[in-house]
Amino acid sequence: MRRPLVMGNWKMNGSQAFNRQWAADFQWTQSPSVNVAIAPPALYIAQFAELVAQQGIWLAAQDVSEQLSAGAFTGQLQAEMLTDLGVRYAIVGHSERRQFQAESDELVANKAVAAISAGLTPVVCVGETLAEREENKTLAVIERQLAAVLDVVRDVSKLVVAYEPVWAIGTGKTASPEQAQSVHAAIRQQLGGAGESVNILYGGSVKAANAQDLFSQVDIDGALVGGAALNAGEFKQICESAA
Ligand code: 13P
Repeated sequence: MRRPLVMGNWKMNGSQAFNRQWAADFQWTQSPSVNVAIAPPALYIAQFAELVAQQGIWLAAQDVSEQLSAGAFTGQLQAEMLTDLGVRYAIVGHSERRQFQAESDELVANKAVAAISAGLTPVVCVGETLAEREENKTLAVIERQLAAVLDVVRDVSKLVVAYEPVWAIGTGKTASPEQAQSVHAAIRQQLGGAGESVNILYGGSVKAANAQDLFSQVDIDGALVGGAALNAGEFKQICESAA
């Protein structure tokens, strides 16, 4: 059985004071039935690691460089630097990076490779825009985004995949559990036999009020949570719904 994973993506939010308060409010006790992770801004990973050291929360990065070796790459973070700080996951291909940093499918795939080569688990984000959904291109878009990764990642079991429909991110519009399930099933099929062990997360306006229904779907193995993860109490409820 797959153990669910609930990951908070703080995006460009937080401060040293906010992080302290969040950690004091969250007070998670490690559970054998769910993995919980937070991706703070990279600048705060070290502080956050100390703040939650007793809580059994995994650390995640919001991005990672595709460069395998250290060197002259201003502003980038090497996967090894993240593992050096105890980070376990790296989000790659978030739609906000595909949109605002013009990340291509190939670049995202190379980031997944760099993450795996350093021992990080990449959380590969895929998802269609509203226009693509309305043109019935949802499955074709996701298949293309995932195929780029599967072209270069040999061991599928090293991946986490997050289905985040772009139209559901930060909009309050969640995909219905059935809509999400049908995409998750297609993703699992594309992953092949090794996909049985892969966590496929749903992301896009996940809240305490809708988490349980999403998690009850057979191929939804947790969530990638944006806005609601900034509220420690609500994020805790979402984690409890997955446990
Ligand atoms: P929201 O939960 O704020 O919709 O964001 C989802 C997301 O993009 C997580 O990576």
